Amino acid sequence: MAITNSPLVSYTKLSPNHSGKRTHAIDRITPHCVVGQCSVETLGNIFLPASRQASCNYGIGVDGRVGMYVEECNRSWCTSSNANDQRAVTIECASDNTAPYAFKGVVYQALINLCIDICKRNGKTKLLWLDDRAKTLAYEPQADEMVLTVHRWFANKSCPGDWMYARMGDLAAKVTAALGEEETPAEPVKPSTGEIRAGDTVRLAAGATYYNGDAIPSWVVAKEWIVREVSGDRAVIDASADGKNHICSPVNVKFLYAAGGAPAQTDTTPIKAGDTVSVADDATYYGGGAVPDWVRKKQWVVLEVDGDRAVIDKSVDGANSICSPINTKYLHRVGAVCPYLVKVTVDALNIRSAPGANSPITGCIRGGGVFTIVAESAGWGKLKSGAGWISLDYTAKV
Ligand SMILES: [Zn+2]
Repeated sequence: MAITNSPLVSYTKLSPNHSGKRTHAIDRITPHCVVGQCSVETLGNIFLPASRQASCNYGIGVDGRVGMYVEECNRSWCTSSNANDQRAVTIECASDNTAPYAFKGVVYQALINLCIDICKRNGKTKLLWLDDRAKTLAYEPQADEMVLTVHRWFANKSCPGDWMYARMGDLAAKVTAALGEEETPAEPVKPSTGEIRAGDTVRLAAGATYYNGDAIPSWVVAKEWIVREVSGDRAVIDASADGKNHICSPVNVKFLYAAGGAPAQTDTTPIKAGDTVSVADDATYYGGGAVPDWVRKKQWVVLEVDGDRAVIDKSVDGANSICSPINTKYLHRVGAVCPYLVKVTVDALNIRSAPGANSPITGCIRGGGVFTIVAESAGWGKLKSGAGWISLDYTAKV
């Protein structure tokens, strides 16, 4: 795997203090404390003289900016251990200059983000903290594992300081949670064994184009479609399996795969009082008038149904009531909701063990991304990965 440098770097001052190319693949990260609340520029000046005989790959300044002093492909002189630094990405973090050498919150957050980035670029899906020197040094990481080490294991030093040492497990957990949340919106689907025929439920291959060569948008690739007609290699896929969209432009059949299994089951039982429902994207009130976004993000309990006219009254979370009736055709019984994709619209979104802002935090999604929601409850969506629930208020349907 080619070694690259972090795109998070905003300041570079390369130090002469390194051993050239690494002799071991990267499978460790070693965070250090600077013992000083300094900037990335100051760190650059510290490591610039050859007489200093010290360096690090990256440094995080007191304001959270990331500096680079030794390129990731090279072995830095940082941890008092040739064996460690040949395989470790070393990171000096601005810290207090007295014990326990605490980091500013912005520095710790930058360290989390940098570790996520280093793991991703080096093909790792887990960051491990084994909390034991002997166990760690004897550990043979799997190809997708990155291991945390600390300077105090190799020299008579307190580095990375007791403040950071106490957070090594937290760092590992947060980075691993973020890495586990990366999903590919359009998972490759098993190729069909037979021919595509009218009436088949299909998905599109990633990178599919329309028959005329135009690119197909990602929301189309994310959905399942019903084939209306096939003529030679030209297929019209017409309606989405969820009934919400139509496309007219034909697609080359080579891009179509059977969606696998039976088409999504439609719950045809009429909506009745007491049902928990969600409201369709294109819903209007019975008397006309668009249903606002926040209503569509919640689940509702049906108070009464009269013909095709339903009063949905109270939200499941008890926070809202609406009196205007809605046509039952816009209501979906909850439980029949198909998995769908959402894009996270904030920089950091907590993952919780259960729906609700008071549930314990189990992780955090950083930097957005697209995720599959497999269940909903009271404005919260359950992640397909099993990592927990996120508030759908901070997402947009893809
Ligand atoms: Zn150190």
